[in-house]
Parts: sequence; structure tokens; C-alpha cells
Amino acid sequence: MTLNQVSAENPFSLSGGTGLLESSTITQTVGTQLLPAGEAIREKENLYNEVLDNITNGYFELYDIPIDEVLDEYAEREAELDEVIRQSQVKTKIRLEVPKNYPDGSVVTVLAIISYSLNGVSQTLTKEIQVEVTNNPTVKRAILVIIDAGRPDKYYNYEDSGGGIQTLLENGVKFNDASTIFPSITTASHTSIMTGMFPKQTKIPAFRWYDKDLKNVIDEGKTEENVKFYVLPWDDGMNEYIEDETIYEQLNRKISSFEGLSIFEFVRNGGEYQGATAKMILSMIRIKSGLASISKIKEDSIDLDSEATSLALDNFDSSVDLMAVWLLGTDEISHHAGPLSSETGEVMDNVDRQLQRLIDELPDGVVDETVFVITSDHGQTTVEADDEHSVSRNELEKVLRDAGYSLKECMQNPLSPVLPKVCVNYDLPLTQLYGRDYEGSNAVAVHNAGIAMLYFKHNSAWSGVPSWAEVEDAVLSLDGCEVSFP
Ligand SMILES: [Zn+2]
Repeated sequence: MTLNQVSAENPFSLSGGTGLLESSTITQTVGTQLLPAGEAIREKENLYNEVLDNITNGYFELYDIPIDEVLDEYAEREAELDEVIRQSQVKTKIRLEVPKNYPDGSVVTVLAIISYSLNGVSQTLTKEIQVEVTNNPTVKRAILVIIDAGRPDKYYNYEDSGGGIQTLLENGVKFNDASTIFPSITTASHTSIMTGMFPKQTKIPAFRWYDKDLKNVIDEGKTEENVKFYVLPWDDGMNEYIEDETIYEQLNRKISSFEGLSIFEFVRNGGEYQGATAKMILSMIRIKSGLASISKIKEDSIDLDSEATSLALDNFDSSVDLMAVWLLGTDEISHHAGPLSSETGEVMDNVDRQLQRLIDELPDGVVDETVFVITSDHGQTTVEADDEHSVSRNELEKVLRDAGYSLKECMQNPLSPVLPKVCVNYDLPLTQLYGRDYEGSNAVAVHNAGIAMLYFKHNSAWSGVPSWAEVEDAVLSLDGCEVSFP
């Protein structure tokens, strides 16, 4: 007999709060280690039946075989077989994760579903078993993985994939009603995830925003005065603008030995930071160059996530209390091929594999004492790239000019959008901002990945909140805009 799998359906269900903890199934593959026990059980049964038959049908008497000797031999063989079975039982202890409120010594009932194959025929046996809780593992750390632009409707399709998402879903909890912030833009979403605060508090609402106190536009941490030189915007970013404590800083205050580790995750105040490898930087530059084919972008997106996983595995050690890992590939390929494309599907397949790889390759015992939190920062949706559905920057500028706003001339950079950030010349267009005379302007428009953040003065000052009438006046003066107000 080969026992293939022993699975115990988790009988613990918790509800309440905003999420629902669904029951899950823990599957343990036993492989062929029960083969000797299975054979021993069968031999024991056959032997017993044979001896009983021979006693009943008078075989021993017919051939003058001393029955005492037969029974002695039988008892000896039975003891040997029992030992094989006993040892096998010791080997096949099943480990179940039990909630903390089941302390050592408490007894719980679990439903065990045992599937086995005998002579090539598979069978399933369901049995309620009493389990005494011993060595309930204590949670020692959390690993947070942020899948950029990971749409739940897509990633939940991986529940039978045999990859990391299946493993995590089967051992964990799925929240169907988690929602992101608005506007759901990477920098702002990550800041909210890592601080637990909404953009109103973090004051990081987008990639680029107008800081009404500094009277300056900030572009992922850079201002005109404060020119930063970095290859990837996220390799420095806007950490210095985040006034709220990150989760690392909050835990640092509470736990003296706390260690936080940020793998490529750019909101990282209070944590150690492992930034992009050279290979990841090259992938990013190729993706952002606007020159790469979709299939090359797909390969680079896959590489980004595989490399980030390697970075996590290489830098993790058991003293880490919280590790955050950013998997950016899904977002990159979705921007170029669309969120529903087969190329995006391939990048998602790789994320699923990398999550399993993370689980498999962490040092022995770590997974049992680690809570994995997998989340996304926002989704992506398909939009038509036509005039009806998109507003070009030129169109926006024309509307603003026609409405009487003075705009500083923009130089178009013929090269990629990422290259200006490699240059120290801060006057190049990605950081070009409408009307540098912020103090003298009535409104500031800051463009951001398909949207513009609009800021209006209140009583001719940047402090305070403008009234609806002030906003309405300013917006209605924009030629061609139709505006409805609540
Ligand atoms: Zn994102």
C-alpha cells in the first residue's frame, strides 16, 4: 500500500472584523514512506487468516504439525510486523498549524482525509481524529510581498496551480474585500501600505504632487532645488517626505531587537534596504526605454521578479522580523501588453512560481514560524488608446493656457521617460511642472500617469481648503471642461 497524501481539513474558522477567515486544507504528502507499514499490515492480515483457516480446516493435524510451534512462529512474526507498523507511525506525524488560542495540551478534533493507492487503485478515507496540541509554533516574523498591479480576479485563479498562491491559500486566509487608496498610484499605495495611513495623512498622493507648505512640486522625492541623482526613481524616492512612521519604525520603537528588511521595496524608513541588482537595473532601463519588444519586456518583467526573490533569499536571516518584498514585473508587463494579455499571464505564472520558491528555499523551520502577507498596491484596467478616451499632455496644456494659466515651456525629451532621471539636468520634461511661479499662480496642475492632480488657492493663499465655489470658478473657466459638482 502506498499512502500518497494525508490532508487534514482545518476545522478552525474565525470570523469578524472586516475579513472572513475561510477554512483551509493542509496537505502533507507522505510519499512512499508508509509502504513498509502498508505491506506489514497486509502480511499480518494474510498470516492471521492463513493460520486461522489452517486451524479451522484441520491442516496442522492432517500433516502432524505441532500447533504450539506454529503459534509461536506466528507470534514472533506478528511482533516483527507490529514493530514495522509502530516505527512507521512515528515517522508519519502530521504537522498542523493550530491557532494560538489552542495551547499545548489542548485536544482538538480534525477531519483527516487520507488518500492512498493500493494495487494501483486510489482510495480516500475520511476520519475524525483527536489531536493533542504540542509545539504549537509561535509566529516570529512576517514576510510581506507586494505584487505590483496584481489583480485579485487574476491571481485568485492560481488556487489550483500547484504554486505559491495555492500553498498560501490552502494554509491561510483570503480577504476578498481589501481595497486600495485613491488615486491608486504605486508610490502613494506603497506609502499607505507601509505606514497604515491614508494619503491625506501621509501627504504622498501620487508620483508627483504639489506641496502647499514648501510651495514646490515634488517628483518622487525630488524638487528643483533638491536634485537627486539616481538610476531608478525608487532607489531613493520620497522617504524623507514621509512624516508618518513606517511599520518598521513603529516596531523599532516597541521591540528593541527589531530588524526590518526591505527587498527592493522603496518605502523603507527604519528598515535595512536591498535595492535593485545590476541585472534588475538593466531590465528596468530596457523596459523604460520604449525600444524593447513586448516579448523582451515580458522576459525582463519575469527577471525582475525572479531577481527580487533571489535578493530576498540571499539577504534573509532568521533574525529578520519583517521583510517586505516588491515584485514589480506584473505592473511593467501590464502597462505594455495589457492586464489581460497572455504575456501578463506568463509574468503572473512566474510570480506564482517565485512565491513557492520563496517558501521552499527559506531555511528549514522558518516557514512554520512566519506569517506571509501577499497583497497588491492597485490593479490595472484596459483603456482605449484613442482621442475619446485619453487626454494628451498637449491637450491639457492647451486647455490650461486657453484658460489663462501661464505655463513654462516644456522641452520634449526625444529619449525615454527614464533617461531624464539619469541626467542631472532637472529641466527635462518628466520633471517639468506647469508654471514654476507657484506663489503667483492660482492653480497648479501636476501630471501623473494618466491623471492630473489639480491644486487651487483659497482666498489667494495656498493654506486652507478652497470652497466649492472657488474650485467651481477655477474649473469652469477651463475651456472645454464639463464639470458636475456634488
Ligand atoms: Zn504599482
